[in-house]
Amino acid sequence: MPEFRALLRGYHRFRHDRYEAERRRWASLATGQAPPVMIIGCCDSRVDPATIFDTEPGQAFILRNIANLVPPFELGGGLHGVSSALEFAVAKLQVRHIVVMGHGACGGVAAALDGHGEPDRIFIDRWISLLDPALERVRASGVPDQHHALELEGVKTSLANLRTFPFVREREDAGELKLHGCHFAIAEGQLWELDEASGSFHLVDETEAV
Ligand SMILES: [Zn+2]
Repeated sequence: MPEFRALLRGYHRFRHDRYEAERRRWASLATGQAPPVMIIGCCDSRVDPATIFDTEPGQAFILRNIANLVPPFELGGGLHGVSSALEFAVAKLQVRHIVVMGHGACGGVAAALDGHGEPDRIFIDRWISLLDPALERVRASGVPDQHHALELEGVKTSLANLRTFPFVREREDAGELKLHGCHFAIAEGQLWELDEASGSFHLVDETEAV
């Protein structure tokens, strides 16, 4: 299993290099977490938020799932993994920002465009049906690159669904929480940020000191 050995080699590097250099930080982190930011991203192995935003341990509460989707608030039905993480981040940790990050070449978005009914997709089809209203909008728009358009619309869908959670809406209305939409282009390594007023995404200035 050379792949797992590669992981263990990475762990050894962490132990000998990073952990050794940051023992105090880890001891402090062990006493509790207070991340100011929640990031909701895709599971895709190429779009690790900690890499893209160069975050340190303890800085970002990260949730990843297929196509970076947030379902609407609802109490019935299944087990609510996304809603639980959201509740913990917002109500307990009181994060001040939630960032939804879509990305280029998203397989979950491609599956939504392909349509439902693949026999080996027991769970994915239902999950990505969250994109159905966005898919209708994209199809109706007639834009040439429907995949890219649906990636962007998916980010907006998750933001809209976030606002169906009362504890999100209340904190946003009170000015204690800010929601952000982003899209990461893999080959270019570039981040685009949604301007919700105009509905368009703008390339984040790489020289900007935030
Ligand atoms: Zn993806």
